[in-house]
Amino acid sequence: MGEVEFIEPRVVPRPQHPISRSLIDRNALKVLYRLHEAGFRALLVGGSVRDLMLGRQPKDFDVATDARPNEIRRLFRNARIIGRRFRLAHVLFKEGVIEVSTFRREPEPSEQAGGPDDLLITSDNAFGTPHQDAFRRDFTVNALFYDIADYSVLDYTGGLDDLEARLIRAIGDPDVRFREDPVRMMRACELAGRLGFGMERGTQEALHRQRGEITRAASARLAEELVQLLQCGRAGEALQWALDLGLLEVQLPEVYAMLTAGRRGLGDLGRILPVVDRMVASGRGFKDTVLLAALLLPSFLLQRYDRETAARRLLSRDELAALVAAVSEGFLERFALPKAKGHELRETLLSFADLCVVPRRESARRRAAAHPFFRQGLELFELLVEATGEGREELALWQAEAARQPRLQLVTTAAVDAAAEGEKAASRRRRSKRRRRRGTRAAAVGGEGQGS
Ligand code: ATP
Ligand code: MG
Repeated sequence: MGEVEFIEPRVVPRPQHPISRSLIDRNALKVLYRLHEAGFRALLVGGSVRDLMLGRQPKDFDVATDARPNEIRRLFRNARIIGRRFRLAHVLFKEGVIEVSTFRREPEPSEQAGGPDDLLITSDNAFGTPHQDAFRRDFTVNALFYDIADYSVLDYTGGLDDLEARLIRAIGDPDVRFREDPVRMMRACELAGRLGFGMERGTQEALHRQRGEITRAASARLAEELVQLLQCGRAGEALQWALDLGLLEVQLPEVYAMLTAGRRGLGDLGRILPVVDRMVASGRGFKDTVLLAALLLPSFLLQRYDRETAARRLLSRDELAALVAAVSEGFLERFALPKAKGHELRETLLSFADLCVVPRRESARRRAAAHPFFRQGLELFELLVEATGEGREELALWQAEAARQPRLQLVTTAAVDAAAEGEKAASRRRRSKRRRRRGTRAAAVGGEGQGS
């Protein structure tokens, strides 16, 4: 794939595409111009070019260049080289980080994980040309470049046609690409859902064939992609793709249970996802733990219902705690959530469980509301009420209870915001770290905080 280095891309000159410099992040422009003026190639790449072509607001702006990491550092005082195995530069600005990476090429066979049949990539640090860099990206629509030299858009992989046709298509042999890095299967579903695109037939078939490989992906990267998927505003559609292609059953049996729970007469719990999407679309932000707990909600409710029916009584708090632990165990392991996150997720579910049966005594209600994760439990409860249309009175009651603790609320909200900010920064750091060892299994157990 990567031997041919002089292949000409399809070039779309400035007047024939919608990307105007006014739509590009100012800091990204600064980086592009500085590289260009120093005589290097300087291209905007990835999701930003894709989104700008579609008239969408990009999430972040990534730059690709033929400057080597140390050359980038010499050019920018505010640059940090990160990573050893996948070295790239972060150029730091007050408003955020611009990620600058040197063109990569596909790894050599000797750089694969195991024997000759093992395609899993373990090292991704060989520098290449723009053409090679395009071909190591995941999907054609993600491999477009915007060239600051003449403001043209460059297409090496057929991404423009696929944008036009609204199709997600793996670059190269989709079976190989999914085996190299199984996280791409999840990214395909997320992207198709997020953009409302279709998926090219060969890509769909390969995804279905390779779905079992998802268990080989680095757990922490899977968790990261899952949270992004849940926050993308079209999680319902993205997971529908995963369901249709058989990925969901392997990767998220809990959600599989959610989507098939309607049959059990508990109301359509699959409605939770559209509710999340609607709220996200209207600007509501959810903590990652609330979203992940929402995925476990149907499993938890079903099993609770079964046990309480069998026992003909309500479960005690200890029994509920044991049930929460049992329901979340496999999930926490599969996604290698850090201990603290696992704890938060279980406590959120447990606090939610407190809210399902409203105690008659005020003191008991106060106690439920004093749970450290009461607000997150309440958000889950709200999702359930919105999804099923039942329990509005109880919700109002708990919301009143929440409103009764204004001081606590202020403190809690501020603390949560601060924690979320720190968390975002940490997640950005982890994200880029992981990006450079894309395809490795190194990020497994423990996830957070032990990035390198
Ligand atoms: P978003 O809007 O979520 O930022 P994105 O496509 O930019 O979407 P990123 O995770 O920021 O996603 O990745 C940036 C680019 O890096 C992608 O567009 C793609 O070209 C490439 N990329 C990301 N993940 C992979 C992967 N697993 N395999 C190959 N290329 C990848
Ligand atoms: Mg991006």
